[in-house]
Amino acid sequence: MQIVRDASGLADFSGGVLVPTMGALHAGHMALIERAAALAGEGGGDIVVSLFVNPTQFNDPSDFERYPRSLEDDARKCEAAGVACLFAPDVGAVYPRGVESAPESALPRVATAPGLEDRFRPGHFAGVCAVVSRLFELTRPRAAVFGEKDWQQLCVIRAMVERAGGKIEIEPCPTVREADGMALSSRNALLSADARRRGLSIWRGLEAAQVETDPPAAERAMRRMMEVGGVEVEYAAVRDAATLEAVRPGRPARALAAGVVGGVRLIDNMPWGV
Ligand code: AMP
Repeated sequence: MQIVRDASGLADFSGGVLVPTMGALHAGHMALIERAAALAGEGGGDIVVSLFVNPTQFNDPSDFERYPRSLEDDARKCEAAGVACLFAPDVGAVYPRGVESAPESALPRVATAPGLEDRFRPGHFAGVCAVVSRLFELTRPRAAVFGEKDWQQLCVIRAMVERAGGKIEIEPCPTVREADGMALSSRNALLSADARRRGLSIWRGLEAAQVETDPPAAERAMRRMMEVGGVEVEYAAVRDAATLEAVRPGRPARALAAGVVGGVRLIDNMPWGV
């Protein structure tokens, strides 16, 4: 495996399958890498993992500062998983003209679906779109794998790629969970035992939503479960799975939740009404 720090080392790896990450790799990321290996096996190309903690997608500077970082460990995991290139650039290699965000006007509509990520992390998707399009420019993949854990992000990236002509295949990967249901996240490393216990009520809320048959009741059940469990709720919403606008009869829906426990922000989602 090659560890590449800037654009000049990437030429040999174009046409591969990219897995963009911010590092601190856990079993969720490894599932994405396995999916990338399967795609590379079917259609050719190398597995490229990018590891970059992108400053522009953090609206809270302290969240950026304390985001877990573990390059050596991550490199060992990637090597063992058959990754050909670990692209771990510094900020200057990604943004040679200075740090950029996509202009709000260039964002796909799904990025600003009301009451979801954009409301609580303004500017987040402008940062995500800027960094993902830079990573695509630099690594020139034929396919890229994204986790369903960040459902709105997956919708935004799909829309961004479609708008650009759809040349990169966007492959989703289901959320990997702990045995009790908690979604794996790099931020879980920042949770105290008590906050970890409370954080589980986000998953419980999503489960509670499943037994309700209309969206407002499902949203209330989710919120109640999260509040009782000790989560500061940001949103608990049931939406059209693709547009993230109001649910429409006959179309797939998704339950989405976000909240803060012990100062750590967690998000999760599940299919709803299937
Ligand atoms: P991050 O490093 O948190 O930016 O995540 C990098 C990629 O891994 C994104 O596509 C995430 O959606 C995905 N991911 C993070 N956690 C999980 C998980 N528990 N299961 C599946 N994919 C995940």
